Amino acid sequence: MISTKPRVRFAPSPTGYLHVGGARTVLFNWLYAKNTGGQFILRVEDTDQERSTREHERMQLEDIKWLGFSYDEGPEVGGPHGPYRQSERLDVYAKCAGELIANGKAYYCFCSEETLEQKRQAAMAAGAVPQYDGTCRGISQADAKARVGKGEKAVVRFLAKVKDYKLDDLVRGEVLFPANMVGDFVILRQGGMPVYNFCVVIDDHLMQITHVLRAEEHLSNTVRQMMLYEAYGWELPRFGHMSLILGSDRQKLSKRHGATSVHQYAEEGYLREALLNFLVLLGWSSPTENKEIMTIEEMVRDFSLDRLNPAPGVFDPVKLKWMNGQYIKALPLADVTARALPFLEKGGIPVAKVERAWLERAFDAIRPYLETLADAPKHMRLFFDETYGVEPDAVAVKAEPTYAAVVTALRDALKTHVSAHGDALTGDEFGKIQDQVKTASGAKGKGLFMPIRVALTGHAHGPDLKILIPLVGAKRAAARAEKALG
Ligand code: GLU
Repeated sequence: MISTKPRVRFAPSPTGYLHVGGARTVLFNWLYAKNTGGQFILRVEDTDQERSTREHERMQLEDIKWLGFSYDEGPEVGGPHGPYRQSERLDVYAKCAGELIANGKAYYCFCSEETLEQKRQAAMAAGAVPQYDGTCRGISQADAKARVGKGEKAVVRFLAKVKDYKLDDLVRGEVLFPANMVGDFVILRQGGMPVYNFCVVIDDHLMQITHVLRAEEHLSNTVRQMMLYEAYGWELPRFGHMSLILGSDRQKLSKRHGATSVHQYAEEGYLREALLNFLVLLGWSSPTENKEIMTIEEMVRDFSLDRLNPAPGVFDPVKLKWMNGQYIKALPLADVTARALPFLEKGGIPVAKVERAWLERAFDAIRPYLETLADAPKHMRLFFDETYGVEPDAVAVKAEPTYAAVVTALRDALKTHVSAHGDALTGDEFGKIQDQVKTASGAKGKGLFMPIRVALTGHAHGPDLKILIPLVGAKRAAARAEKALG
Protein backbone atom coordinates (compact mmCIF):
# COMPACT_ATOMS: atom_id res chain seq x y z
CA MET A 1 0.00 0.00 0.00
CA ILE A 2 1.44 3.33 -1.02
CA SER A 3 1.25 5.91 1.74
CA THR A 4 -1.55 8.47 1.48
CA LYS A 5 0.71 11.25 2.73
CA PRO A 6 3.59 12.13 0.41
CA ARG A 7 6.86 10.41 1.12
CA VAL A 8 9.75 12.05 -0.70
CA ARG A 9 13.44 11.46 -0.59
CA PHE A 10 16.83 12.92 -1.26
CA ALA A 11 19.24 10.27 -2.46
CA PRO A 12 22.76 11.67 -2.63
CA SER A 13 25.73 9.77 -3.93
CA PRO A 14 28.47 10.53 -1.43
CA THR A 15 31.19 11.40 -3.89
CA GLY A 16 32.00 14.93 -2.74
CA TYR A 17 30.52 17.97 -1.07
CA LEU A 18 26.85 18.76 -1.52
CA HIS A 19 26.45 20.60 -4.83
CA VAL A 20 24.13 23.60 -5.01
CA GLY A 21 21.95 21.59 -7.41
CA GLY A 22 21.71 18.87 -4.78
CA ALA A 23 20.82 21.51 -2.21
CA ARG A 24 17.95 22.62 -4.41
CA THR A 25 16.77 19.02 -4.69
CA VAL A 26 16.83 18.65 -0.90
CA LEU A 27 15.00 21.95 -0.55
CA PHE A 28 12.18 21.13 -2.96
CA ASN A 29 11.65 17.67 -1.51
CA TRP A 30 11.75 18.96 2.03
CA LEU A 31 9.38 21.83 1.21
CA TYR A 32 6.95 19.45 -0.40
CA ALA A 33 7.01 17.17 2.65
CA LYS A 34 6.53 20.08 5.04
CA ASN A 35 3.81 21.68 2.94
CA THR A 36 1.80 18.46 2.72
CA GLY A 37 2.51 17.04 6.16
CA GLY A 38 4.40 14.24 4.44
CA GLN A 39 7.75 12.67 5.18
CA PHE A 40 11.23 13.37 3.99
CA ILE A 41 13.64 10.47 3.72
CA LEU A 42 17.35 10.56 3.20
CA ARG A 43 18.97 7.63 1.44
CA VAL A 44 22.66 7.34 0.70
CA GLU A 45 23.38 5.88 -2.72
CA ASP A 46 26.85 4.53 -2.20
CA THR A 47 27.06 1.52 -4.48
CA ASP A 48 29.71 3.18 -6.63
CA GLN A 49 32.48 1.87 -4.45
CA GLU A 50 35.24 3.68 -6.25
CA ARG A 51 33.81 7.14 -5.74
CA SER A 52 31.72 6.87 -2.57
CA THR A 53 33.28 7.37 0.84
CA ARG A 54 32.01 7.66 4.38
CA GLU A 55 33.89 10.93 4.67
CA HIS A 56 31.93 12.36 1.75
CA GLU A 57 28.73 11.10 3.31
CA ARG A 58 29.61 12.85 6.56
CA MET A 59 30.37 16.06 4.65
CA GLN A 60 27.07 15.95 2.79
CA LEU A 61 25.07 15.27 5.94
CA GLU A 62 26.83 18.18 7.58
CA ASP A 63 25.97 20.46 4.66
CA ILE A 64 22.34 19.34 4.84
CA LYS A 65 22.34 20.12 8.55
CA TRP A 66 23.98 23.48 7.95
CA LEU A 67 21.15 24.30 5.54
CA GLY A 68 18.78 23.62 8.41
CA PHE A 69 17.15 20.42 7.17
CA SER A 70 16.37 17.36 9.17
CA TYR A 71 14.91 14.13 7.84
CA ASP A 72 12.31 11.75 9.20
CA GLU A 73 14.15 8.62 8.15
CA GLY A 74 17.71 8.07 7.07
CA PRO A 75 21.21 7.18 8.19
CA GLU A 76 21.87 8.02 11.82
CA VAL A 77 18.16 8.61 12.59
CA GLY A 78 16.98 5.21 11.32
CA GLY A 79 13.37 4.39 10.49
CA PRO A 80 11.07 1.51 9.60
CA HIS A 81 12.41 1.00 6.05
CA GLY A 82 16.13 0.91 6.76
CA PRO A 83 18.94 0.48 6.39
CA TYR A 84 19.22 3.77 4.50
CA ARG A 85 22.62 3.20 2.97
CA GLN A 86 22.53 1.19 -0.20
CA SER A 87 25.82 -0.52 0.62
CA GLU A 88 24.00 -2.05 3.60
CA ARG A 89 21.12 -3.32 1.48
CA LEU A 90 23.01 -5.61 -0.89
CA ASP A 91 21.09 -8.68 0.31
CA VAL A 92 17.82 -6.93 -0.62
CA TYR A 93 19.03 -6.20 -4.15
CA ALA A 94 20.40 -9.73 -4.59
CA LYS A 95 17.04 -11.17 -3.57
CA CYS A 96 15.12 -8.85 -5.89
CA ALA A 97 17.46 -9.57 -8.80
CA GLY A 98 17.04 -13.29 -8.10
CA GLU A 99 13.28 -12.90 -8.52
CA LEU A 100 13.69 -11.31 -11.93
CA ILE A 101 16.07 -14.06 -13.04
CA ALA A 102 13.69 -16.75 -11.80
CA ASN A 103 10.84 -15.15 -13.74
CA GLY A 104 12.87 -14.90 -16.93
CA LYS A 105 12.88 -11.08 -16.75
CA ALA A 106 16.61 -10.85 -16.24
CA TYR A 107 19.47 -13.10 -17.25
CA TYR A 108 23.15 -13.75 -16.74
CA CYS A 109 25.42 -12.34 -19.39
CA PHE A 110 28.90 -13.75 -19.86
CA CYS A 111 30.12 -11.46 -22.64
CA SER A 112 33.56 -10.09 -21.90
CA GLU A 113 34.21 -6.38 -21.66
CA GLU A 114 36.47 -6.59 -24.71
CA THR A 115 33.83 -8.25 -26.87
CA LEU A 116 31.23 -5.70 -25.76
CA GLU A 117 33.61 -2.86 -26.49
CA GLN A 118 34.39 -4.18 -29.97
CA LYS A 119 30.68 -4.47 -30.75
CA ARG A 120 30.08 -1.01 -29.37
CA GLN A 121 32.76 0.44 -31.64
CA ALA A 122 31.42 -1.44 -34.65
CA ALA A 123 27.88 -0.17 -34.01
CA MET A 124 29.08 3.38 -33.70
CA ALA A 125 31.17 3.09 -36.85
CA ALA A 126 28.02 1.91 -38.63
CA GLY A 127 26.15 4.94 -37.33
CA ALA A 128 23.94 2.90 -34.98
CA VAL A 129 23.24 3.57 -31.30
CA PRO A 130 25.21 0.89 -29.46
CA GLN A 131 22.99 -1.54 -27.58
CA TYR A 132 23.52 -4.97 -26.17
CA ASP A 133 22.91 -7.46 -29.00
CA GLY A 134 21.31 -10.16 -26.85
CA THR A 135 24.04 -12.82 -27.25
CA CYS A 136 23.39 -14.34 -23.81
CA ARG A 137 19.60 -14.02 -23.88
CA GLY A 138 19.15 -17.57 -25.08
CA ILE A 139 21.27 -19.31 -22.45
CA SER A 140 19.00 -21.43 -20.32
CA GLN A 141 18.69 -20.61 -16.65
CA ALA A 142 20.11 -24.01 -15.68
CA ASP A 143 23.19 -23.58 -17.91
CA ALA A 144 23.74 -20.05 -16.75
CA LYS A 145 23.50 -21.02 -13.07
CA ALA A 146 25.92 -23.89 -13.64
CA ARG A 147 28.46 -21.58 -15.32
CA VAL A 148 28.13 -19.03 -12.53
CA GLY A 149 28.46 -21.84 -10.00
CA LYS A 150 31.77 -22.81 -11.59
CA GLY A 151 33.01 -19.30 -11.04
CA GLU A 152 32.57 -17.90 -14.54
CA LYS A 153 32.27 -14.12 -14.49
CA ALA A 154 28.84 -12.72 -15.32
CA VAL A 155 26.71 -9.62 -15.03
CA VAL A 156 22.93 -9.70 -14.73
CA ARG A 157 20.97 -7.94 -17.45
CA PHE A 158 17.39 -6.86 -17.45
CA LEU A 159 15.40 -8.07 -20.44
CA ALA A 160 14.11 -4.78 -21.81
CA LYS A 161 10.71 -4.71 -23.49
CA VAL A 162 10.58 -3.20 -26.94
CA LYS A 163 7.73 -0.75 -26.59
CA ASP A 164 7.09 2.93 -26.04
CA TYR A 165 7.03 4.23 -22.51
CA LYS A 166 5.12 7.34 -21.55
CA LEU A 167 5.83 9.28 -18.43
CA ASP A 168 3.41 11.81 -16.97
CA ASP A 169 6.02 14.05 -15.42
CA LEU A 170 4.93 16.54 -12.78
CA VAL A 171 7.15 19.25 -14.23
CA ARG A 172 7.52 18.43 -17.90
CA GLY A 173 4.13 16.93 -18.70
CA GLU A 174 4.04 13.93 -20.99
CA VAL A 175 7.45 12.56 -21.90
CA LEU A 176 7.70 9.86 -24.53
CA PHE A 177 10.50 7.30 -24.49
CA PRO A 178 10.29 5.58 -27.87
CA ALA A 179 10.69 1.81 -28.15
CA ASN A 180 14.26 0.63 -28.57
CA MET A 181 15.71 3.58 -26.73
CA VAL A 182 17.47 1.24 -24.33
CA GLY A 183 18.63 -2.32 -24.75
CA ASP A 184 19.01 -4.99 -22.09
CA PHE A 185 20.78 -3.07 -19.37
CA VAL A 186 22.95 -4.33 -16.55
CA ILE A 187 21.35 -4.48 -13.11
CA LEU A 188 24.10 -6.36 -11.26
CA ARG A 189 27.74 -5.87 -12.12
CA GLN A 190 30.32 -8.64 -12.02
CA GLY A 191 30.69 -9.56 -8.39
CA GLY A 192 27.05 -8.76 -7.74
CA MET A 193 27.23 -5.03 -7.05
CA PRO A 194 23.93 -3.51 -8.21
CA VAL A 195 23.72 -0.41 -10.39
CA TYR A 196 21.95 2.86 -9.61
CA ASN A 197 18.96 2.30 -11.91
CA PHE A 198 18.19 -0.96 -10.19
CA CYS A 199 18.70 0.00 -6.54
CA VAL A 200 16.76 3.21 -6.93
CA VAL A 201 13.64 1.32 -8.00
CA ILE A 202 13.89 -1.32 -5.29
CA ASP A 203 14.45 1.31 -2.64
CA ASP A 204 11.87 3.82 -3.79
CA HIS A 205 9.35 1.00 -3.79
CA LEU A 206 10.31 -0.58 -0.48
CA MET A 207 10.62 2.82 1.18
CA GLN A 208 7.15 3.67 -0.13
CA ILE A 209 8.28 6.81 -1.90
CA THR A 210 5.30 8.53 -3.51
CA HIS A 211 7.06 11.35 -5.37
CA VAL A 212 10.49 11.28 -6.97
CA LEU A 213 11.55 14.89 -7.36
CA ARG A 214 15.00 15.09 -8.84
CA ALA A 215 17.15 16.85 -11.39
CA GLU A 216 16.40 16.78 -15.09
CA GLU A 217 19.69 14.97 -15.66
CA HIS A 218 17.95 11.81 -14.47
CA LEU A 219 15.11 11.94 -16.97
CA SER A 220 16.83 9.51 -19.33
CA ASN A 221 17.25 7.01 -16.48
CA THR A 222 13.56 7.07 -15.81
CA VAL A 223 12.64 4.82 -18.72
CA ARG A 224 14.84 2.04 -17.30
CA GLN A 225 13.25 2.56 -13.94
CA MET A 226 9.76 2.43 -15.43
CA MET A 227 10.63 -0.90 -17.05
CA LEU A 228 11.67 -2.30 -13.71
CA TYR A 229 8.49 -1.11 -11.95
CA GLU A 230 6.54 -2.79 -14.71
CA ALA A 231 8.47 -6.04 -14.42
CA TYR A 232 7.78 -6.23 -10.70
CA GLY A 233 4.18 -5.12 -11.09
CA TRP A 234 4.78 -2.25 -8.70
CA GLU A 235 2.91 1.03 -8.73
CA LEU A 236 4.92 3.83 -10.26
CA PRO A 237 5.65 6.80 -7.97
CA ARG A 238 4.98 10.24 -9.42
CA PHE A 239 8.09 11.67 -11.06
CA GLY A 240 9.00 15.32 -11.31
CA HIS A 241 12.21 16.32 -13.07
CA MET A 242 13.31 19.76 -12.01
CA SER A 243 14.81 22.24 -14.42
CA LEU A 244 18.49 22.36 -15.25
CA ILE A 245 20.62 24.93 -13.46
CA LEU A 246 22.72 26.96 -15.87
CA GLY A 247 25.56 29.39 -15.32
CA SER A 248 25.22 33.03 -16.37
CA ASP A 249 26.57 32.06 -19.81
CA ARG A 250 23.67 29.58 -20.09
CA GLN A 251 26.02 26.61 -20.02
CA LYS A 252 25.43 23.87 -17.49
CA LEU A 253 26.57 25.06 -14.06
CA SER A 254 30.06 23.80 -13.29
CA LYS A 255 33.15 24.72 -11.35
CA ARG A 256 34.10 27.08 -14.16
CA HIS A 257 31.33 29.35 -12.92
CA GLY A 258 32.82 29.66 -9.44
CA ALA A 259 31.68 28.04 -6.23
CA THR A 260 29.29 25.15 -6.77
CA SER A 261 29.32 23.47 -3.38
CA VAL A 262 27.22 24.45 -0.40
CA HIS A 263 30.30 24.10 1.76
CA GLN A 264 32.15 26.70 -0.24
CA TYR A 265 29.30 29.19 0.06
CA ALA A 266 29.23 28.63 3.81
CA GLU A 267 32.98 29.24 3.95
CA GLU A 268 32.64 32.40 1.89
CA GLY A 269 30.20 33.88 4.36
CA TYR A 270 26.84 33.18 2.80
CA LEU A 271 23.84 32.65 5.04
CA ARG A 272 21.73 29.55 4.68
CA GLU A 273 18.59 31.67 4.48
CA ALA A 274 19.95 33.57 1.50
CA LEU A 275 21.19 30.47 -0.27
CA LEU A 276 17.84 28.71 0.18
CA ASN A 277 15.88 31.75 -0.89
CA PHE A 278 18.08 32.03 -3.97
CA LEU A 279 17.79 28.32 -4.79
CA VAL A 280 14.03 28.13 -4.37
CA LEU A 281 13.69 30.56 -7.29
CA LEU A 282 15.65 28.27 -9.59
CA GLY A 283 12.76 26.35 -11.07
CA TRP A 284 9.94 27.47 -8.80
CA SER A 285 8.13 30.74 -8.21
CA SER A 286 5.95 32.10 -5.47
CA PRO A 287 2.21 32.39 -6.13
CA THR A 288 2.56 36.03 -5.05
CA GLU A 289 3.62 37.82 -8.19
CA ASN A 290 7.21 39.14 -8.17
CA LYS A 291 7.81 37.93 -4.64
CA GLU A 292 11.47 37.08 -4.40
CA ILE A 293 12.54 37.48 -0.81
CA MET A 294 10.81 34.95 1.39
CA THR A 295 11.34 33.20 4.66
CA ILE A 296 11.50 29.44 5.00
CA GLU A 297 8.07 29.54 6.63
CA GLU A 298 6.65 31.35 3.61
CA MET A 299 8.28 28.84 1.27
CA VAL A 300 6.75 25.96 3.22
CA ARG A 301 3.36 27.63 3.18
CA ASP A 302 3.42 28.51 -0.54
CA PHE A 303 5.26 25.58 -2.07
CA SER A 304 3.41 23.50 -4.62
CA LEU A 305 4.47 21.20 -7.41
CA ASP A 306 2.34 22.95 -10.00
CA ARG A 307 4.56 26.03 -9.80
CA LEU A 308 7.68 24.08 -10.75
CA ASN A 309 8.93 25.41 -14.03
CA PRO A 310 10.57 23.24 -16.72
CA ALA A 311 12.64 26.13 -18.11
CA PRO A 312 16.27 26.15 -16.99
CA GLY A 313 17.12 28.32 -13.99
CA VAL A 314 20.11 30.63 -14.27
CA PHE A 315 22.45 30.68 -11.32
CA ASP A 316 23.39 34.34 -11.03
CA PRO A 317 26.08 34.79 -8.36
CA VAL A 318 25.57 38.56 -8.35
CA LYS A 319 21.95 38.11 -7.36
CA LEU A 320 22.90 35.59 -4.70
CA LYS A 321 25.36 38.06 -3.22
CA TRP A 322 22.77 40.80 -3.23
CA MET A 323 20.29 38.53 -1.52
CA ASN A 324 22.87 37.58 1.05
CA GLY A 325 23.38 41.24 1.88
CA GLN A 326 19.62 41.62 2.34
CA TYR A 327 19.60 38.76 4.82
CA ILE A 328 22.61 40.09 6.72
CA LYS A 329 20.68 43.31 7.25
CA ALA A 330 17.39 41.63 8.09
CA LEU A 331 18.23 38.75 10.42
CA PRO A 332 18.08 39.21 14.19
CA LEU A 333 21.23 41.01 15.26
CA ALA A 334 22.38 38.54 17.94
CA ASP A 335 22.00 35.63 15.54
CA VAL A 336 23.83 37.18 12.62
CA THR A 337 26.61 38.52 14.87
CA ALA A 338 27.12 35.03 16.27
CA ARG A 339 27.41 33.67 12.76
CA ALA A 340 29.92 36.39 11.88
CA LEU A 341 32.23 35.48 14.78
CA PRO A 342 34.35 32.88 13.00
CA PHE A 343 34.86 35.29 10.10
CA LEU A 344 35.83 38.13 12.42
CA GLU A 345 38.25 35.90 14.28
CA LYS A 346 39.80 34.67 11.08
CA GLY A 347 40.17 38.28 9.97
CA GLY A 348 42.12 39.14 13.12
CA ILE A 349 39.36 41.02 14.98
CA PRO A 350 39.88 40.35 18.72
CA VAL A 351 36.29 39.32 19.35
CA ALA A 352 37.13 37.52 22.59
CA LYS A 353 38.45 40.74 24.13
CA VAL A 354 35.29 42.80 23.73
CA GLU A 355 31.87 42.53 25.29
CA ARG A 356 29.24 40.79 23.26
CA ALA A 357 26.76 43.67 23.61
CA TRP A 358 29.38 46.09 22.30
CA LEU A 359 30.25 43.73 19.45
CA GLU A 360 26.62 43.47 18.43
CA ARG A 361 26.24 47.23 18.32
CA ALA A 362 29.41 47.49 16.26
CA PHE A 363 28.24 44.75 13.92
CA ASP A 364 24.90 46.47 13.55
CA ALA A 365 26.72 49.62 12.41
CA ILE A 366 28.64 47.85 9.68
CA ARG A 367 26.14 45.30 8.48
CA PRO A 368 24.51 47.53 5.88
CA TYR A 369 27.88 47.46 4.08
CA LEU A 370 28.28 43.69 3.97
CA GLU A 371 27.47 41.35 1.13
CA THR A 372 28.95 38.32 2.85
CA LEU A 373 30.06 37.66 6.41
CA ALA A 374 33.58 37.40 5.06
CA ASP A 375 33.40 41.16 4.36
CA ALA A 376 32.92 41.85 8.07
CA PRO A 377 36.54 42.05 9.35
CA LYS A 378 37.47 44.68 6.79
CA HIS A 379 34.66 46.95 8.00
CA MET A 380 35.07 46.05 11.64
CA ARG A 381 38.62 47.34 11.55
CA LEU A 382 37.16 50.84 11.92
CA PHE A 383 36.67 50.06 15.59
CA PHE A 384 40.03 48.53 16.32
CA ASP A 385 42.71 49.88 14.08
CA GLU A 386 44.47 53.01 15.36
CA THR A 387 47.12 52.84 12.66
CA TYR A 388 44.83 53.52 9.74
CA GLY A 389 45.97 55.85 7.03
CA VAL A 390 43.97 57.95 4.63
CA GLU A 391 42.14 55.82 2.08
CA PRO A 392 42.56 56.83 -1.59
CA ASP A 393 38.98 58.13 -1.77
CA ALA A 394 39.62 60.33 1.27
CA VAL A 395 42.87 61.99 0.16
CA ALA A 396 41.05 64.90 -1.50
CA VAL A 397 39.19 65.61 1.74
CA LYS A 398 42.46 66.11 3.56
CA ALA A 399 43.35 68.81 1.07
CA GLU A 400 40.13 70.74 1.72
CA PRO A 401 40.75 74.27 3.07
CA THR A 402 38.51 73.61 6.08
CA TYR A 403 40.32 70.43 7.07
CA ALA A 404 42.85 71.77 9.61
CA ALA A 405 40.38 74.08 11.35
CA VAL A 406 37.70 71.39 11.60
CA VAL A 407 40.02 68.69 12.92
CA THR A 408 41.65 71.07 15.42
CA ALA A 409 38.25 72.04 16.78
CA LEU A 410 37.24 68.38 16.83
CA ARG A 411 40.30 67.36 18.80
CA ASP A 412 39.73 70.16 21.30
CA ALA A 413 36.06 69.34 21.76
CA LEU A 414 36.78 65.64 22.23
CA LYS A 415 39.54 66.40 24.74
CA THR A 416 37.20 68.66 26.68
CA HIS A 417 34.64 65.87 26.71
CA VAL A 418 37.22 63.37 28.00
CA SER A 419 38.25 65.75 30.83
CA ALA A 420 34.64 66.17 31.92
CA HIS A 421 33.13 62.71 31.27
CA GLY A 422 35.92 60.25 30.55
CA ASP A 423 35.66 57.77 27.68
CA ALA A 424 31.87 57.36 27.65
CA LEU A 425 30.22 59.15 24.75
CA THR A 426 26.64 58.97 23.49
CA GLY A 427 25.41 59.65 19.99
CA ASP A 428 23.73 62.83 21.17
CA GLU A 429 26.90 64.03 22.85
CA PHE A 430 28.83 63.41 19.68
CA GLY A 431 26.17 65.39 17.81
CA LYS A 432 26.78 68.31 20.17
CA ILE A 433 30.52 68.01 19.65
CA GLN A 434 29.92 68.30 15.90
CA ASP A 435 27.86 71.45 16.54
CA GLN A 436 30.69 72.92 18.57
CA VAL A 437 33.14 72.11 15.78
CA LYS A 438 30.86 73.83 13.33
CA THR A 439 30.74 77.02 15.41
CA ALA A 440 34.46 77.01 16.14
CA SER A 441 35.60 76.31 12.57
CA GLY A 442 32.91 78.10 10.60
CA ALA A 443 32.73 75.06 8.29
CA LYS A 444 29.43 73.52 7.32
CA GLY A 445 27.87 70.73 5.26
CA LYS A 446 30.37 68.53 3.50
CA GLY A 447 33.20 70.88 4.46
CA LEU A 448 32.42 70.03 8.08
CA PHE A 449 31.40 66.38 8.02
CA MET A 450 33.90 64.98 5.57
CA PRO A 451 37.00 66.17 7.46
CA ILE A 452 35.50 64.81 10.71
CA ARG A 453 34.86 61.44 9.11
CA VAL A 454 38.23 61.20 7.41
CA ALA A 455 40.10 62.28 10.55
CA LEU A 456 38.30 59.71 12.72
CA THR A 457 38.15 56.77 10.30
CA GLY A 458 40.47 57.38 7.34
CA HIS A 459 37.50 56.72 5.05
CA ALA A 460 35.31 59.10 3.05
CA HIS A 461 32.28 56.82 3.50
CA GLY A 462 30.93 54.55 6.17
CA PRO A 463 28.46 54.16 9.00
CA ASP A 464 26.82 57.09 10.76
CA LEU A 465 29.44 58.73 12.99
CA LYS A 466 26.91 59.17 15.78
CA ILE A 467 26.80 55.39 15.98
CA LEU A 468 30.40 54.73 15.15
CA ILE A 469 32.27 57.14 17.41
CA PRO A 470 30.44 56.30 20.65
CA LEU A 471 31.54 52.71 20.01
CA VAL A 472 35.14 53.83 19.57
CA GLY A 473 34.95 55.93 22.75
CA ALA A 474 35.92 59.55 23.43
CA LYS A 475 39.52 58.83 24.35
CA ARG A 476 40.48 56.97 21.24
CA ALA A 477 38.47 59.43 19.15
CA ALA A 478 40.46 62.34 20.64
CA ALA A 479 43.71 60.49 19.96
CA ARG A 480 42.60 59.84 16.38
CA ALA A 481 41.89 63.54 15.82
CA GLU A 482 45.23 64.43 17.31
CA LYS A 483 47.01 61.99 15.03
CA ALA A 484 45.11 63.25 12.00
CA LEU A 485 46.54 66.70 12.59
CA GLY A 486 50.09 65.38 12.63
N1 GLU B 1 22.08 9.12 -6.39
C1 GLU B 1 21.49 9.87 -7.44
C2 GLU B 1 22.25 11.17 -7.57
O1 GLU B 1 22.97 11.54 -6.66
C3 GLU B 1 20.05 10.12 -7.11
C4 GLU B 1 19.16 10.17 -8.27
C5 GLU B 1 17.71 10.08 -7.89
O2 GLU B 1 17.26 10.93 -7.15
O3 GLU B 1 17.08 9.14 -8.30
O4 GLU B 1 22.18 11.84 -8.56
